[in-house]
Amino acid sequence: AREEGGRTLHYFSASMNSRAFQKVSMEKALEKALADQQFEVFYQPKVQIADERIVGMEALVRWRHPEMGLVSPAQFIPVAEETGLIVDIGRWVLEQSCRDTVQWQKDGFDPIVMAVNLSPRQFRDPKLLEDVLATLEATGLDPQYLELELTESMLMENAEEAVKMLRKLKDRGIHISIDDFGTGYSSLSYLKRFPIDALKIDRSFINEVNTNPDDASIATSIILMGRSLRLKVIAEGVETRNQLSFLRVMQCDQVQGYLFSPPVPEPKARELLVSLGAG
Ligand code: C2E
Ligand code: CA
Ligand code: CA
Ligand code: CA
Repeated sequence: AREEGGRTLHYFSASMNSRAFQKVSMEKALEKALADQQFEVFYQPKVQIADERIVGMEALVRWRHPEMGLVSPAQFIPVAEETGLIVDIGRWVLEQSCRDTVQWQKDGFDPIVMAVNLSPRQFRDPKLLEDVLATLEATGLDPQYLELELTESMLMENAEEAVKMLRKLKDRGIHISIDDFGTGYSSLSYLKRFPIDALKIDRSFINEVNTNPDDASIATSIILMGRSLRLKVIAEGVETRNQLSFLRVMQCDQVQGYLFSPPVPEPKARELLVSLGAG
């Protein structure tokens, strides 16, 4: 059967655009993955620089395929986004991560903020607010412990609508952060108008922050601007003590990265809360 499958694949890719084929077969596999519960949520801690304690976690989806093993979101999120499946996947990630956050609180850990990524399609979904509120209700998570991560381009695409949606989310107490900050096109005047709570400096600026003066300038500028707009600033992709020291001197608020932990499955995240948790 495997050989037959191989031949089929060959036949199709010869006769049609192989990217189109990949998309169709990936789409089918993703639908099956949802039905068969092959997705998992991994968590990566957000650590407060001042005391090196965990104050938040970011939910990062993983696909545990029965034959391919762990598939990275970089490989399937784009297809899920194009086909619209991201809406269902995203709803599942939100629910799972809210559930785990509530469970940690019930188990006596100091509350942390759970950050969930939204894709452009999810942000445009007219049912977003309704879905998020229903999930908070169903899981019992207080909205102040939920943060949504969006990118600059998602906000700039339709800035007027974005401001309205952000306001509605904010009015319920949900936090908003801008992901990959510095890589998209954003207007500083809009930044002022968006009701956001935090900026996440993209890891491309952090990588060589100790050796590349341009990256150091950009990171510093983002931190200063964030502070003056009273936003929290989080650095992504922090892998070394040197990077952490730089960010501490510049008064960045939080860091995320392999230095403290890669994204890990729930049981391991719980262990991190024991060793690095707030209380
Ligand atoms: P992102 O939101 O910018 O997430 C950060 C990525 O950087 C994650 O990759 C994380 O594993 C990786 N990372 C964290 N610390 C370090 C570090 O110190 N060094 C390096 N080199 N990398 C680090 P991941 O988990 O593969 O996710 C990739 C992207 O997929 C995410 O980028 C996000 O845009 C998207 N994604 C992941 N989960 C979801 C989800 O549930 N929904 C949506 N819509 N997108 C998701
Ligand atoms: Ca993110
Ligand atoms: Ca990011
Ligand atoms: Ca990214």
